Amino acid sequence: MRKIAIYGKGGIGKSTTTQNTVAGLVELGKKVMIVGCDPKADSTRLLLHGLAQKTVLDTLRDEGEDIELEDVLKAGFGETRCVESGGPEPGVGCAGRGIITSINLLEQLGAYDEDKQLDYVFYDVLGDVVCGGFAMPIRDGKAEEVYIVCSGEMMAMYAANNICKSIAKFGKAGKVRLGGLICNSRKVDNEANMIEEFAKKLGTQMIHFVPRDNMVQHAEINRKTVIDHAPEHVQADEYRELARKIDENKMFVLPTPLAIDDLEKLLIDFGVLN
Ligand code: ATP
Ligand code: MG
Repeated sequence: MRKIAIYGKGGIGKSTTTQNTVAGLVELGKKVMIVGCDPKADSTRLLLHGLAQKTVLDTLRDEGEDIELEDVLKAGFGETRCVESGGPEPGVGCAGRGIITSINLLEQLGAYDEDKQLDYVFYDVLGDVVCGGFAMPIRDGKAEEVYIVCSGEMMAMYAANNICKSIAKFGKAGKVRLGGLICNSRKVDNEANMIEEFAKKLGTQMIHFVPRDNMVQHAEINRKTVIDHAPEHVQADEYRELARKIDENKMFVLPTPLAIDDLEKLLIDFGVLN
């Protein structure tokens, strides 16, 4: 079973990209579980056709330790197994801790057991690991493979660089490796070339360039992935290609984060300031 975490700046497209990619993997015949690690609990909405999910932490609070797997795990598009870990009560407790609590509970309940025959588990993680709590999935070995969603916008690249620092740090002692950058286009000039160069400097690859397309919004309004809502559309093929590339990926590295001056130079060299 491959254990994958998706990180990236807030709002960059982690949840959308993860669910669409998972839909692509399902079409390849893969069995996938997706665990939302975000108090917003919106990591499985497109696969479940709505926000029907009761989170693990809410269920724990309401019903105590006596929980069945079915209470927190729902079947979504193509028999994907969908879980939302949820969050602590606002202002109380650490959201990162909550994530580990719910992953541990899923383990106890047998969600990862051999008989489930999972090919993949995906963690859609909030935040850019500036808060140590959100590094827990990669720190505790829950995820071993990371993809960073970014774009050619400076803050998205800055966040990606910070995430690489965490991977470099935790990967030294543990198993976590970077599998690549997913460029989720914001239509910045020269974006694909710049992110390819950024990836090279980080010692990784731009695994796919996902174009910006309004069909993503159309599908989202219908509470579906693009693959589910408009399987013939070109954007659906982009996600299928990303899924195939992840499935075939062999490039796993300890990244080499850039100094901030080098990151800024990259942006200048590729004409962002023009
Ligand atoms: P958060 O950090 O808040 O969890 P996120 O990184 O998970 O955010 P999403 O919720 O997936 O981001 O996406 C934010 C918005 O961007 C969504 O409304 C989504 O429809 C839109 N979006 C994402 N990718 C694309 C794309 N390739 N083309 C068009 N719109 C997109
Ligand atoms: Mg999200």
